[in-house]
Amino acid sequence: MKRRVSILLAAAGALSALLAADFAAEGNLWWAHIQYLAGDKLEGRNTGSEGYREAVKYVATEFERAGLKPAGTSGYQQPVKFETRELVTESSSLALVHGEDVEPLTLGTDANLNARARLAAALEAPMVFVGYGLRIPEAHYDELQGMDLHGKIAVYVNAAGPVKADTNLTSHYSSGVERWAALHRAGAIGFASIQNPRVQTGGANGRGQPGEAAGRAGRGNGRGPAAGGGRGPQPAVLLADPSLQENEGQSVALTITRGGADQFFAHSGHTYEEILALARENRPLPKFDMNVSLRMKALVKRDTMEASNVAGVLPGSDPQLRSEYVIFSAHLDHLGPGRPGAMDNASGVASVLEVARLMKETAAKPKRSILFLTVTGEEKGELGSRYFAAHPTVPFRQIVADVNLDMFLPLYPLKVLVVQGLAESTLGAQVKAAAAELGVGVQTDREPEQNRFIRSDQYSFIRRGVPSLAFKFGYEFGSPEEKIRQAWVRERYHKAGDNLDQPVDKESAARFDRIIMGLLERVADDPERPQWNAESFFKRFAQ
Ligand SMILES: [Zn+2]
Repeated sequence: MKRRVSILLAAAGALSALLAADFAAEGNLWWAHIQYLAGDKLEGRNTGSEGYREAVKYVATEFERAGLKPAGTSGYQQPVKFETRELVTESSSLALVHGEDVEPLTLGTDANLNARARLAAALEAPMVFVGYGLRIPEAHYDELQGMDLHGKIAVYVNAAGPVKADTNLTSHYSSGVERWAALHRAGAIGFASIQNPRVQTGGANGRGQPGEAAGRAGRGNGRGPAAGGGRGPQPAVLLADPSLQENEGQSVALTITRGGADQFFAHSGHTYEEILALARENRPLPKFDMNVSLRMKALVKRDTMEASNVAGVLPGSDPQLRSEYVIFSAHLDHLGPGRPGAMDNASGVASVLEVARLMKETAAKPKRSILFLTVTGEEKGELGSRYFAAHPTVPFRQIVADVNLDMFLPLYPLKVLVVQGLAESTLGAQVKAAAAELGVGVQTDREPEQNRFIRSDQYSFIRRGVPSLAFKFGYEFGSPEEKIRQAWVRERYHKAGDNLDQPVDKESAARFDRIIMGLLERVADDPERPQWNAESFFKRFAQ
């Protein structure tokens, strides 16, 4: 090995270091982090739990070992305050009121109330069906045009429907926050959503549809698929700061289930089946008065909790550029007992730790500073990253990029890397070059309908204008790799099977880590800051 190294060093400079890298050994070091983080002791690292606190300690210790400087507000830690809300089902009720008729609904069977909203203690309001409930100015698409929703509950199918527009555009506007913002502006006091019939629950869409819940994401609310597995519902978790909750004016947040749907439509002159049939085909939906009011009583038990982001910095070497930061992030939390979360996302955290170690070992001297960040509350709706983006521990304008890892799925040899955000910014060319050094190609997302670019922590930075990238191991359509990937999502995603006993390609994970390290160094050393491409949808967020 040694002789080979020196020959290559003479021949090809830095590239040789990559060729000589001992991927087997590095893969084992990477896996060792996962063994601890997804081991029994940490009990699935639920935000606010003892297991999560242990994970924080572990990451802080590893950051220190890698020589990173503390970059939290309390050493390496940045404590984040949360509010938890739990619906007291016994003291809450729903009914449909039609004239003199009052038809009681069964909570949990006919409809679910989402405690993430700012549920009114008691309320009665008329319901209006608004199709997909979307307003997308750039696509000249506006289902809310001319609708007066003042004092009303908007009922919609949680899908993008017939909109012909860029996926990024539809993803953005069909996200919970943006959809609610439009409905709220039209006067709505709450919403009732109907699940997208094109997406089955619990499978590839186990994360919930964007827009399902009151907050950024539909998961972790104790009602979505994420809370299944036979355990009781978990409370909804929100950032304690009301200005970061993004659900102002939302007095009702309801999911209509298949079981209760017919009752909701009974007086509307339309049927649930008719609506579903149209939505299944992405056809335009009618808009109409449901001719019924919802009567709601909601008792919500509130509490507080705290959990930390962990931040460490490798200071840059250039006197000017060192005041700028490239963020390298991954979420540290998962779903709690019975959900080890080895790939989701102990794997990403392990890569953050491994790249920090490699940078020390290789005496890397990036010109800009690199901020290694593991965040909390991702599974509750990207809360830790949203908090960090709102309260960064370094000057916000000096954050030049976010490179985020969430479940990159090294389940087979790495031939091609899926890069979310590839076509959006100058980071695209840099990741291409970094991957090429290891003979790996890059591709855009194979499943754009999953909206992954806006579904993990990078979106907290993107929404504040920071160019970002996220990654998965790629595959070609019809390949064995595609089958492996789909089986993984079906059988292990957010389930007990995402554990230490699954087949993982550790060497390929190590190659991936090297590509990411190369990317970080390129971004850190580039005289130019990363920029959104002129035609990128996300450029609008740049400040
Ligand atoms: Zn997850």
